[in-house]
Amino acid sequence: MTSGVKVKTWRNWSGAVVAHPSSFLQPESVDALKAALRDASARAGTVRVVGSGHSFPPLCATDETMVSLEALHGLESVDAAAREAVVWAGTNLRELGTLLASHGLAMENLGDINKQSLGGALGTGTHGTGVGLGILSTQAAAMTLVTASGDEVTCSEDASPELLQAARVSLGALGVVTRVRLRLLPAYRLRLTRRNLGLEECLAGLEEARARHRHYEFFWFPHSDRVMTKAMDLTDEPPHGVGVGRWLNEMVMENAVFGAVSRACRLRPALCAPVSRLSAKLASEGVLAGQSHTLFATPRLVRFQEMEYGVPVERGPDCLRELAEYITRQQLPVHFPVEYRFVRGDDVFLSPAHGGDRAFIAVHQYRGMPLEPYFSGAEAIFRNHGGRPHWGKLHTQTAATLKHLYPRWDDFQRVREQLDPEGRFLNPYLRRLFLEEGAKSATHPRA
Ligand SMILES: Cc1cc2nc3c(=O)[nH]c(=O)nc-3n(C[C@H](O)[C@H](O)[C@H](O)COP(=O)(O)OP(=O)(O)OC[C@H]3O[C@@H](n4cnc5c(N)ncnc54)[C@H](O)[C@@H]3O)c2cc1C
Repeated sequence: MTSGVKVKTWRNWSGAVVAHPSSFLQPESVDALKAALRDASARAGTVRVVGSGHSFPPLCATDETMVSLEALHGLESVDAAAREAVVWAGTNLRELGTLLASHGLAMENLGDINKQSLGGALGTGTHGTGVGLGILSTQAAAMTLVTASGDEVTCSEDASPELLQAARVSLGALGVVTRVRLRLLPAYRLRLTRRNLGLEECLAGLEEARARHRHYEFFWFPHSDRVMTKAMDLTDEPPHGVGVGRWLNEMVMENAVFGAVSRACRLRPALCAPVSRLSAKLASEGVLAGQSHTLFATPRLVRFQEMEYGVPVERGPDCLRELAEYITRQQLPVHFPVEYRFVRGDDVFLSPAHGGDRAFIAVHQYRGMPLEPYFSGAEAIFRNHGGRPHWGKLHTQTAATLKHLYPRWDDFQRVREQLDPEGRFLNPYLRRLFLEEGAKSATHPRA
């Protein structure tokens, strides 16, 4: 059965992408999904599958059919001995963490939040941080998709490995991913240590720190020379520091206070520099320990826009220095910290980490504040350093430029054309990414 939910207006998390799908479907079985896709094909209509809507660009936007897999969630099967589970793609990462923990299992890594659907997180190459850890999609050992013709296709490392390398990061352009077989770890605990350091001191010790810690990242506070580093390592310590105190700190101190100062910065952009410098002073050092799935994610209630690029890992420090110099020289109104993370290289066709380890650098701007010239200047610097954009974040690249960044671009396109010859899964934004003809319409969505 498919529930046809009336959704007049759909908005993404940032609120900047608004769509009016003519129908919004929530299939409750794979058969219902197949029927919906066949029906769309018969009408020559297009379909976009949506996860939790946490991507910044208009990846999911459509005025035709929008399909949500929200009703297809949870674990299909678990093999604790083999450390694998087959998971429905509509499962959000928070639910997934809890379900896996009840079987003594855990994901190898996660990003900053756990609101994303598994399908969306994999579809855009979502990553956490850790030079030994790949994007989340590298944990997908097999995937099942329903294609535009309504047929089911399964790929794995043994059967159709090429399709798997295309499907691991596919932006919903190959078909609707229904189930994923994930490679997992026995449940584990992490110890998180936060430190407040000078930027140059942090960069001088970066090589050593990223090699020493399982997860390492830092946040640079614009208009200051300070950073906050975050290191996480395996531990046997019992959980501590993760109770009500952490909740109060994150919800009240970080989100409520930061929300209030962000509104003030939007009204008076001259406040951005002093606010950022004050945040650097107040950034508290500390140590916590807890189950991995409870420690990775933090609540992000203050809405923003984001651009993130992965540059070759050795180019990261110079890239950040140039970005810092640009923000300072231009006195840009920015009060959100710049985030710096690490991702292991892989061979997924459209992974931004394809072919080698990457440093991911992300810039954020409060909702409603101007993105220009901040994002365009940052993007020029990222591109000069050989960067590739995060698919779930803002960028202005098109098929004409993207194809030079990915050695397996043509292989992805071949698979896409085989599975979706009529372009049933392409909206205008995806046409811009995958077809030359869209190349002229590159603009940032509004703030
Ligand atoms: C506050 C915030 C924090 C974030 N933190 C991080 C982070 O730490 N690391 C990081 O890498 N990214 C991060 N992101 C980006 C986010 O992880 C990605 O944009 C992710 O795709 C969002 O998942 P979603 O379920 O919301 O997907 P959506 O935005 O709904 O969809 C994303 C894409 O996936 C496709 N898709 C969704 N489901 C399926 C399916 N079942 N089959 C086929 N295709 C599908 C859609 O068609 C679309 O192209 C963050 C975003 C926000 C807003």
